[in-house]
Amino acid sequence: MQSFGNASTAEVAVVGGGPAGLVSAIALAASGADTLLVAPPAEPDRRTTALLSGSVTALETLGAWQACLPHAAPLKKLRITDATQRLLRAPEVFFDAAEIGLEAFGYNIENRHLVAALEDRAFDLKLARIGAPALAVTSDADGVTIRHGGGEVRVKLVVGADGAHSLCRAAAGIGTQRHAYPQIAVTLNLAHGRPHDDTSTEFHTESGPFTLVPLPGARSSLVCVLDRAHAAELAAMDDAALSTEIEQRAHSLLGKMRVEPGRGVFPLAVATADAFARARIALVGEAAHVVPPIGAQGLNLGLRDAATIAEIVADARHHNLDAGASEVLARYDLQRRADVTSRTIAVDLLNRSLLTDFLPAHGARGLSLYLVDRIGPLRRALMREGVTPAASQPRLMRGEMV
Ligand SMILES: Cc1cc2nc3c(=O)[nH]c(=O)nc-3n(C[C@H](O)[C@H](O)[C@H](O)COP(=O)(O)OP(=O)(O)OC[C@H]3O[C@@H](n4cnc5c(N)ncnc54)[C@H](O)[C@@H]3O)c2cc1C
Repeated sequence: MQSFGNASTAEVAVVGGGPAGLVSAIALAASGADTLLVAPPAEPDRRTTALLSGSVTALETLGAWQACLPHAAPLKKLRITDATQRLLRAPEVFFDAAEIGLEAFGYNIENRHLVAALEDRAFDLKLARIGAPALAVTSDADGVTIRHGGGEVRVKLVVGADGAHSLCRAAAGIGTQRHAYPQIAVTLNLAHGRPHDDTSTEFHTESGPFTLVPLPGARSSLVCVLDRAHAAELAAMDDAALSTEIEQRAHSLLGKMRVEPGRGVFPLAVATADAFARARIALVGEAAHVVPPIGAQGLNLGLRDAATIAEIVADARHHNLDAGASEVLARYDLQRRADVTSRTIAVDLLNRSLLTDFLPAHGARGLSLYLVDRIGPLRRALMREGVTPAASQPRLMRGEMV
C-alpha cells in the first residue's frame, strides 16, 4: 500500500474482517497482490463452524491451521436420525470418513478461535489494515474509492466480505433473491457426560434439524432449528431447565448436559446475490450468499469464494491484467455460480422436506436416505461430493498455493 497524506492506493482492498474476509486478504497477499484489509476488529462470535476437509486444507496451505488445531475437534462420523413422528420415516444413516479414505470429514471450531488464528496470520504477514469500517464505496471506469474515517483509499478491485447487509454489494448495484423461513436457529455450546466419539449427530424433527457437533473434550455445539414460538420458549429458559430440555431432545445420547454461557438466536433465511461481481467489486461469503445453518455449508462456500477470487486475481496478475477488469469479474461470477446454486438448493430442499405435511415428500426423503444407507457406492459418492464438491476445487482447497 502507498500513502499520500489521507489518501492511499493498493491493488486490492478486502472490506470486512469476518472469516471470509480474513481468508480472502491472506490468500490475496500470499499470491503477491498488494492487498489492504479494511475492517474494524471482529465482534466476539461464539458460533462454531464445521470446516470441511477442503477448507482445512486451504487454511493449512495459508499457514493458519496450526493455530486452529488445539481448538478444533475432528468430525470422523456423521449420524442422521429421523426423530419425526410421521407415518413415513427414514432409516438411521451413518457416514464414516474412513469409508472414503479420510481421517475426518472436517473439524469443528468456535468462530472466535478461527478468527483469532486468522488475525494472527494476517499480522505475521504484515498485511496492511485500516481498522475502521468503510463508510462509502464508489467505483468508476479506472478503479474504486473507499472512504473511511481517516481518509480515502483507491484500488483496482474491492473484495466485498462485509456480511449479509453488504455495503459493497449495494455499491455495485447488485440485488439479492431472499426467502425467509418460518424457523429460528437457537445455538449454544454445551458440556456432556458421555463422549461424542468424534461423531456429529443430526436429529431430523418436524420443525427442522437438531444437530450436535463435537468440540474438543466432552463438549459439543448445538444448532437447534425450531418454529418461532418454541425458539422463544427455549431462549427464555434458565440454564438448568434448558440443559434438561436439550438432554431430552437429544434422547440422552450424550448423557447429562450443561449449557455454557452465550446463546445465539438466528432467524433462518436464504439469500443469493443476483451477481457475484460487478463494477470492480467481487462479493465473498455472506455478502454473496446466506444459507441456513443446515449441513455446514455457509462458510465452506465462503472460503471457496475466497480461494477462487485469490486464484483468479493471481492468474490476472500473471497475464498483466487489471485485477478489476470486467473479464476477471465475469470469470469469478461464472466459477462460483454452480457451487453456490447447487448447495443452496440442496439445503432448501432438505429443510422444506422436513417442514412440509405432504406425505410423498416424506416418502422421497425416506427413500433417498434408505438408498444411501443400502448402496455403498452411492453413499461414498455422496460423502465425496460433500467434502470435495465437483463444481468447485480451487487450488488452495487442493493444497496448492494460489
Ligand atoms: C447458527 C449458525 C451456524 C453456522 N454453522 C456453520 C457451519 O457449521 N459451517 C459453515 O460452513 N457455516 C456455518 N454457518 C455460516 C457461517 O457462520 C457464515 O457463513 C460465516 O460466519 C460468514 O462469514 P463472513 O465472513 O462472510 O461474514 P461475517 O462473519 O458476517 O463478517 C462480516 C464482517 O464484515 C464487517 N463489516 C460489515 N460492514 C462493514 C463495513 N462497511 N466496512 C468494513 N467491515 C464491515 C463486519 O464487522 C464483520 O466482521 C453458520 C451460521 C449460523 C447462523
